[in-house]
Amino acid sequence: MVLAMTASAPQSEISPLDRPVASLFGVGPERAAQLGRLEIFTITDLLLHRPRRYEDRRHFRPVAELEMDKPAITRGKIVALGVKWFAQHTKSIFEIIIDDGTARLHCRWWNLPFMEKYFARGQEVVVFGKLAGLRPRTIDHPETEVVEGGEESSIHLNRITPVYPLTEGLPQRWLRALIWRTLPAAEPHIGEPWPGLERHAARDPRYGITPDMPLPSRARAIRLLHFPESEADGELARQRLALDEFIELQRQIQLRRRNFQAKARALPCAGDNHLIKPFLAGLGFKLTEAQTRVLRDLRKDMSGPHPMRRLLQGDVGSGKTVVAACCALMALESGYDAALMAPTEILAEQHFANFKRWLDPLGVAVELQTGSRRPTAEIRNPKSEVRSPEGEGQRAKGGEKTEDTLRGPHRASLTIGTHALLTAGFELPKLGLVIIDEQHRFGVAQREQLVRKGHYPHLLVMTATPIPRTLGLTVYGELDVSMLEERPPGRGRLRTFVRKADKLPKVWAFIREQLGRGRQAYVVYPRVEDSGASAVKAVTREFESVRQALAPYRVGLLHGRLKLKDKDEVMTGFRAGGLQALVATSLIEMGLDVPNATVMLIDNAEQFGLAQLHQLRGRIGRGAHDSYCILLAGARSKDAQERLKVLAETGDGFRIAEADLEARGPGELLGQAQSGVGKFRFGDLSRDWELLRQARELAAKVVD
Ligand code: ADP
Ligand code: MG
Repeated sequence: MVLAMTASAPQSEISPLDRPVASLFGVGPERAAQLGRLEIFTITDLLLHRPRRYEDRRHFRPVAELEMDKPAITRGKIVALGVKWFAQHTKSIFEIIIDDGTARLHCRWWNLPFMEKYFARGQEVVVFGKLAGLRPRTIDHPETEVVEGGEESSIHLNRITPVYPLTEGLPQRWLRALIWRTLPAAEPHIGEPWPGLERHAARDPRYGITPDMPLPSRARAIRLLHFPESEADGELARQRLALDEFIELQRQIQLRRRNFQAKARALPCAGDNHLIKPFLAGLGFKLTEAQTRVLRDLRKDMSGPHPMRRLLQGDVGSGKTVVAACCALMALESGYDAALMAPTEILAEQHFANFKRWLDPLGVAVELQTGSRRPTAEIRNPKSEVRSPEGEGQRAKGGEKTEDTLRGPHRASLTIGTHALLTAGFELPKLGLVIIDEQHRFGVAQREQLVRKGHYPHLLVMTATPIPRTLGLTVYGELDVSMLEERPPGRGRLRTFVRKADKLPKVWAFIREQLGRGRQAYVVYPRVEDSGASAVKAVTREFESVRQALAPYRVGLLHGRLKLKDKDEVMTGFRAGGLQALVATSLIEMGLDVPNATVMLIDNAEQFGLAQLHQLRGRIGRGAHDSYCILLAGARSKDAQERLKVLAETGDGFRIAEADLEARGPGELLGQAQSGVGKFRFGDLSRDWELLRQARELAAKVVD
């Protein structure tokens, strides 16, 4: 916890801030249990209990001036109340009517008859909500608070008042008063965890905070969090407390990295080009400048003193696979094994086919290990067998290390697999490099697990999901980052259209025309892979109707529940052109590379996140022909269609990811990767990038 004792506090005593809430006056066992349900156990927890919103109770709106559908705060005296029962006493409405001298307001609650006991005629109540009707003026299910006289009113009224998350039986007023009473005694004990912070940090100018407003001290931030003195104070306090959280997170990340570098020695894996040279010569295209630049980064890492920890970000279709192949060859040239982990079996199979085609001529063994497939090595390629004398002569020249590996029984190989690579049975004797494709599908924990298989092998993770800066600093904080921002040349244009479902017949006609020209198409339905048998049924049903719509063209079906053999058959058919269209779930989102496929229809596109749609459409636009992505949106939601338009407007994965982050929060974008990120009480990854950037710098100072 970042709340620190002041230097003057005696060391032996526990900080008053760590005392249990039950030690506070007025908190008995029942209240303590209720607070516990809110995860408030200590005084620190209580002080960090974040209001969910504020009410400006310095200004109430007269009842007569309330407007429809606009949230507002008002107050008045209860002039009548009661419960009405109906539907044979199974349903009820509890209602209070308040009057503030300008008009009357009806407040109604459905099926909460017990509410009656909390109110009495003549009481003064504060009401927050929005008008649902004008005759009579009515608010349904408002938030209310009974006003009591006396000094208490200075806590609850005439100020910007915090409204807290509660739990059953815990009154808003009681909690607010408790925090009010606890603050004065606690404040002197709230130290500065990172000295000098107020001077360092500039504020994010959004949210009405000007850069010349100094950040409050931590103690002051905590007071302002609960009892702001002006409109901006709550947000200012939040930012200060968020900064503390981010610094702590960044400090941990940077410490971990330091420790790692201190104890892990890198395996010498820079290679000597004897495999890469013929590989590039036989490739059939020239590497782009971006690819060459990234390879220079990689070679530097692979020959450096610390094991490589690098993230390769490159938009869909930017050519990461070839870069991965070169990286693997560096390790193999140096006599070390390499492993490549892909998120799905299909993708692992595709990589396997590619790498075999590329590496077989070089005499490099490539093996496949997925959930459904045993390692090919066990079947026909026992490790002890030394094949391919070609290249060995060259290798022998490559220095002591390589000679060692050649004399011994070990022959370096590349293993490609899915998460099955993580299972206990998988061991590579001399694992020098781990490559993880489509990183966002794997959690940080899994990444670590695989890397621990060897003796600190080098690690290259690749992702096509552009991670907005904020997230990158947290999820990938320990990794160096390389970017492939250039696409290979000679690609056709990729255009994206948003269409309503009623345009479907026209869309089919368009697709048929494209198929008539020899192109191929994907038709994608938004069913997640793990959504079970009913999803399979749904996509199977769609398959039938697509078949009819596209007849006589041949259509294949691909979903996660198919047996691997069947998946293979469909994929092979589609690659070879025997199938002209593929109906699929979002399974195809990752990695598939069929350059002749130029049309993608995504049904119910609004059910996907933007970043995911961008991934999906990355399956087309990979060949020389122009490509077309059609997003079919259900007609219901205008918002959804607006949201989808971003995709029609830009192909920039980063812009799309940021739009997605704003609309849907970080969970979606990160998938499992997020499990490695701390939960923040105050920090908000979707907008605090400026704070995160500062935190990173400040943490570096702390670590030094
Ligand atoms: P991604 O970055 O999405 O994984 P891939 O590695 O699948 O992209 O590459 C997409 C396609 O581009 C592949 O067919 C690949 O062979 C091709 N490609 C990669 N690099 C180049 C290049 N420098 N010039 C031409 N085509 C390339
Ligand atoms: Mg890929």
